[in-house]
Amino acid sequence: MAIAYFYEHYHSLSDMLFRDIIGQEVLKNRLVQTVKENRLSHAWLFFGPEGAGALPLALAFSGYILCTSREETDACGFCASCNKVGKFIHPDLHFVFPVNKTRSLEKDNVVSDDFIAEWRNFILKNPYGRLTQWYDFIDLENKQGVINTEESKRLAGKLNLKSFESDYKVVILWQPEKLNDQASNKLLKLLEEPPPLTIFILVSENPDQLLATVRSRCIPVKIPRINDIDLSEALVNKQNLEKNNAKNIVRLASGNYLKAIELISEAKDISYNFTKFRELMRSCFKINIPELIRLTDEFSALTREKQKAFLEYGLRTLRESLALHYNKAGIVYITDEEQEFIPNFAPFINGNNIIPFSDELNKAIQDIERNANGRIVFLDMTLKLAALIKR
Ligand SMILES: [Zn+2]
Repeated sequence: MAIAYFYEHYHSLSDMLFRDIIGQEVLKNRLVQTVKENRLSHAWLFFGPEGAGALPLALAFSGYILCTSREETDACGFCASCNKVGKFIHPDLHFVFPVNKTRSLEKDNVVSDDFIAEWRNFILKNPYGRLTQWYDFIDLENKQGVINTEESKRLAGKLNLKSFESDYKVVILWQPEKLNDQASNKLLKLLEEPPPLTIFILVSENPDQLLATVRSRCIPVKIPRINDIDLSEALVNKQNLEKNNAKNIVRLASGNYLKAIELISEAKDISYNFTKFRELMRSCFKINIPELIRLTDEFSALTREKQKAFLEYGLRTLRESLALHYNKAGIVYITDEEQEFIPNFAPFINGNNIIPFSDELNKAIQDIERNANGRIVFLDMTLKLAALIKR
């Protein structure tokens, strides 16, 4: 649904600095202090709920560690190191993440490096992304990703080499819960006897699924949900939302930036459906035939999926109007416009007409599924609705 929109409209992050990250000021400060005071532990476990920013924070933290001219509260963003971290091509920044074979890569023991170009692209566009989005991104179809033994072996090999450009080598291990048992044990060995000047950052949504022995080797960093004020500000600044719309999205997103982006995309479709449903109901009420025909033409030009989504939206509005007519609570308004329209529309929906009204919409949905002619389906439906709305 939202994926295409998602990749088109995601703010383009060429840098992954602390200041690019939404909220989490307390944590950023804590991480900065750790580096400044030279208290860098060799293993960290960043964990928190989806959309809170565990991976972006791990990236910014790595950037800060690797930056050659660190500023007070952030990496400089300009040095050669920052430049490479910003493109995720720094030779001392290693990534491990779940993969599997795909149609275009049919071999055993696939490892992260086989997908490194895709990975860079993915985190550049969608650093808050979830595991299933990553799987879709590399076309895993219905396979699960894993972190296998070969991966751990290779990582051990890489970390045995001296660092190339920086004092430190940093390993970001995304979704370590996907390590298989053997690979976990190998990782554990690395964590127990870490190669010098190496920093592991495990980034997990389900730390309970990790070996307790792996967990206990890491400094835990709990990433809380983004607070509403910070999330709202991000939606205004990065997604160009009006303050009021941002407020509505924030209310439903529970501190999850990923969810917020998806809600914005859904809201765009809802906004179209809302506007057209309102026009349709007004024209039905006035029995404005030329306008009904114009709307019918417009609907019949939509794709079948959009036609169905519109009709389903109509059904939802009917249900909410009926609930409001009888003063039932629990109505979820998505937009301010709905909040104005539904109470005005509610008096026209009652026990006498709700069933035939819904029947007409349901029948239109079925006809569209059966590939009936869209213009005839919509014209037929609107004329019947016009007769029903006055009852
Ligand atoms: Zn720098």
